[in-house]
Amino acid sequence: MLPEVQALVRLQDFDHAVTRLETELAELPKRLDALQKDTAAQSKSLATLEANLKADETERRKLEGDVELHKSKIIKLKKQLNEAQNLTQTQALEHEITWAEQAIAKAEERELELLMEEEQLRADIAVSKGKLLAMQKNFETERQQALARHKAGLAELAALAEQRKTTLATLTPQVASLYERLRRKHKNGVVAVEVVGTQCQGCFMEIRLQLSQELRTNHTFMTCENCGRVIYLNPATGFDPQFGPAPVQ
Ligand SMILES: [Zn+2]
Repeated sequence: MLPEVQALVRLQDFDHAVTRLETELAELPKRLDALQKDTAAQSKSLATLEANLKADETERRKLEGDVELHKSKIIKLKKQLNEAQNLTQTQALEHEITWAEQAIAKAEERELELLMEEEQLRADIAVSKGKLLAMQKNFETERQQALARHKAGLAELAALAEQRKTTLATLTPQVASLYERLRRKHKNGVVAVEVVGTQCQGCFMEIRLQLSQELRTNHTFMTCENCGRVIYLNPATGFDPQFGPAPVQ
């Protein structure tokens, strides 16, 4: 491979590494944001459970108070019943007692329902709290890891920029500007490609036999006539049934 093409491939490798690293670093805050959102949602769901429990307890306490009131009223009514003067009074008092007893039964039934609901809510709250704690712990771990990775990534980027600069300096201005032009044209950044057999690995079109031959024999700087990418033969894989192995350079 021509030294200039070799340098070009190295430059391409550096740029790919930079793109990969920049993508990775850009993902870090996104991942933390997602984790934070999940944690906030968990916290909200816990708050809802706790509010439901509080509402149930308040309702149950109110019912307990109501039951006490009904009970003392029944005692009072029963006393009045003993002193009733006529049937109308007796019937009215009995009716009131029955109503108060029914109200107690209804309240106690609801209290039981609430007790069962509260028990379930307390269990759910315990699970939810455990989950939230684990999520908060995980978020903190990931945050620390992301910070460390970000710091290391920046150092890697700086090293890559330095290596890239050194490699770029070995290219002629023409080849350097061709590289930049091709990089703008091919958005995936693949601008120097191998020819396998007679096929360009950039656009997968067959290159002319004559060009393929020149590539093998003249060791000249060449580009694909179809996609414009710089083409080279990799001696290890450039075996061609017609021409045999590519010359080792
Ligand atoms: Zn091509």
